[in-house]
Amino acid sequence: MTLLERAESKQPNLLRILTYHQIERPEAFEEQMSYLASSYPVISMADLLNVYETGAKLPPRSVMITFDDAYRNFAECAWPIMKRHNLPVTLFVPTAFPDHAERIFWWDRLRQAFNLTSRRDTLATPLGPLSLATKKQQEKSLKRLEAYVKTLSHEKALVWVEQICQELDAPCLKSNVLGWYDLRQLAAQGVTLGAHSRTHPLLNRVSLQAAEAEIVGSLQDLEKKIGIAPPIFAYPHGQFTEKIVSILRHAGFALAFTTLRGTNDLRHADRLRLRRINIGSRANLSILRARLVHSSAYVNRWRPLPEA
Ligand SMILES: [Zn+2]
Repeated sequence: MTLLERAESKQPNLLRILTYHQIERPEAFEEQMSYLASSYPVISMADLLNVYETGAKLPPRSVMITFDDAYRNFAECAWPIMKRHNLPVTLFVPTAFPDHAERIFWWDRLRQAFNLTSRRDTLATPLGPLSLATKKQQEKSLKRLEAYVKTLSHEKALVWVEQICQELDAPCLKSNVLGWYDLRQLAAQGVTLGAHSRTHPLLNRVSLQAAEAEIVGSLQDLEKKIGIAPPIFAYPHGQFTEKIVSILRHAGFALAFTTLRGTNDLRHADRLRLRRINIGSRANLSILRARLVHSSAYVNRWRPLPEA
């Protein structure tokens, strides 16, 4: 244990929630899970719900593991490893995607088009001409376009991404999201499935009415397809506003998860604005350990986002 790790380990009531999406290096993920299993109490979503319902206390240094977006990669790479280590996990599902091979997350579609395009000239965009000449320039152009898409309304964003992908003349690959059959299998094996909207819009880029339908609808979809759906929600892209939070409160959600980095002090943390710590697909053990320790600096500090 490092000095920092030892210092933070004495603080009570702290919960660190990890967010993963996909795993590109199973051996590095194995190392992380093995470390968590031997070094931290890893709690389940049911444990956390119980804390809020009954006032039960969590063991010091508790960690929770979540995966967003229900990629096939979760069932193929992550879950077998977590199962072996007996680690509980929650998978947040955008419920319009399972069993729709033609539906691809816009950011995956855009990235795929950049990876597959043979164009090396300049791409005309609303941000001006962007270079496709080298891998480095492509990556830079892609990052700028991703940021631009997030400024558009959800509907416009989808149309615009499709147009750009056609201009890049790249084939459209099939969905990489798990189907309902596989999701039911995972639930039966102990994976907690949580609501993550239906179509994964930025909730501040759709009308409030549409946001409510996305939020409540995704919970209903899970109830219908899986049989049980805990009252939990992960904000798509981590984005929320005061109004979105109040929709969740009125709809009876018990817990909601952002992507704001930090540790939650459960004595004060807003249960509908829980912080998480993102771990990238290629992360190794030292990155995980650093994130677990350094996120303490962000306890309960958060930036409100602009209203829609
Ligand atoms: Zn997501």
